[in-house]
Amino acid sequence: MTPAPGVRRMAAWAARPAAAPSGAAPAAARARCELCPIGLGENHRHLLHLEERRIICVCETCWSLRSGDPEFRPPGVRTLWLEDFVMSDEVWAAFQIPIGLAFLLRSGSTGAVVALYPSPAGATESELELTAWDALCAANPILERLEPDAEALIIDRTSPTPRYAIVPTDQCYGLVGLIKSRWEGISGGQGLDKAIAEFFDDLRARAVAA
Ligand SMILES: [Zn+2]
Ligand SMILES: [Zn+2]
Repeated sequence: MTPAPGVRRMAAWAARPAAAPSGAAPAAARARCELCPIGLGENHRHLLHLEERRIICVCETCWSLRSGDPEFRPPGVRTLWLEDFVMSDEVWAAFQIPIGLAFLLRSGSTGAVVALYPSPAGATESELELTAWDALCAANPILERLEPDAEALIIDRTSPTPRYAIVPTDQCYGLVGLIKSRWEGISGGQGLDKAIAEFFDDLRARAVAA
């Protein structure tokens, strides 16, 4: 089965280049700057490669030298916990996202709003119906200031109390990678639920309330 073009493109966005088979050393142990030969520690900078639509790992020097290049954009810096976020079941249903966890971001080049949601194969992409997005923005004006490409609205409706936050885009891909590595069976399994819970606990601890 051939995936839809958008799906394939997004899989490329999320895939780590030259990813080792699962069970190999953790990513941090083999991370290198993708713009120069320097090795990277676990905590390092990222840039969004806009044309190739993927996240690249970079050193401090390359980050400061190349952040302004037209093909790159630094991820956002805010982590905002949206305590009073409003999303009706109707708006959520209109997005037609098959699972309760997704992140939404606006493309700076096309203006389209794209939803990404994790799956065992990586990130899957679908373009949002803009009427529903506009309704969501009207209910939550903070979304008007969502920085294109660099920031995403993360939505978790898998728990009884839905959670919403604005996060730098590279962290979303961190979650996608985590999910891919923990997915078991058809539904994801308990390891997956635990991974998602830990991700949100950590996010909340770091976030500023909006
Ligand atoms: Zn470098
Ligand atoms: Zn990295």
